[in-house]
Amino acid sequence: MSPSRKPIVYIISAPSGSGKSTLVNKLLKLVPNLDFSISYTTRPPRGAEKNGKQYHFVPRQQFERMIQAGEFLEHADVFGNYYGTARRFLGEAEQKGHDLLLDIDVQGAAQIKQNLPDGVSIFILAPDFKTLELRLRHRSEDEEEVIQRRLATARREIENYDKYNYIVINDDLKESVECLMSIVQVERLRRSLSQEERRIVDLADRCRLTNISKRIQPILASFREPPPSARS
Ligand code: 5GP
Repeated sequence: MSPSRKPIVYIISAPSGSGKSTLVNKLLKLVPNLDFSISYTTRPPRGAEKNGKQYHFVPRQQFERMIQAGEFLEHADVFGNYYGTARRFLGEAEQKGHDLLLDIDVQGAAQIKQNLPDGVSIFILAPDFKTLELRLRHRSEDEEEVIQRRLATARREIENYDKYNYIVINDDLKESVECLMSIVQVERLRRSLSQEERRIVDLADRCRLTNISKRIQPILASFREPPPSARS
């Protein structure tokens, strides 16, 4: 990849317990030239987490100074702690000619999509609520109260699924990783097309059944026979 090409920003969101971290780690190992944006957070490290690896763990005051200085591309309050994506990671990825992967919540994803509409957003869903609950309990990282809060948040978060470009249902780990890899590759391919090639692909895409369903409803309605009472 040539340096200074605009990075593709991949935004991954999922309710906790959806298997997102495992998928993200596997994806990063398998896809070349894809950098992980290590977020800043005010929450304390969990388990074996290390500063600068999963997160940059900083005190609240430092985080608030960074907000004032405009150092964040987006930031949000999640479960009472600040989380934020540093602007500088985008520049660093661009310098290297790499793409950037963000693992952020739905509020952050909406902010990024507003600032970077070309960003590619992916929502990961557990196959059903029971599975999500089981995964959260098996993780045994959290108190019951925290698990209940995460489940309530999950119910709210999944309502935002239709704001994402892609949905991956994490039923089978291997298959989900393959799906994520294909999404990264297809978006890279899309960016490498000429303007004319892109126009052709977009036009054909508009006619796909899944993309036409909204436009087709009023057309179908116009073809329906009127009830006998309405006929002259
Ligand atoms: P956890 O504390 O379990 O690692 O993460 C809690 C939530 O914060 C997850 O949904 C995760 O995606 C989100 N998160 C992590 N980093 C960021 C960030 O930089 N910005 C935003 N908006 N959310 C983040």
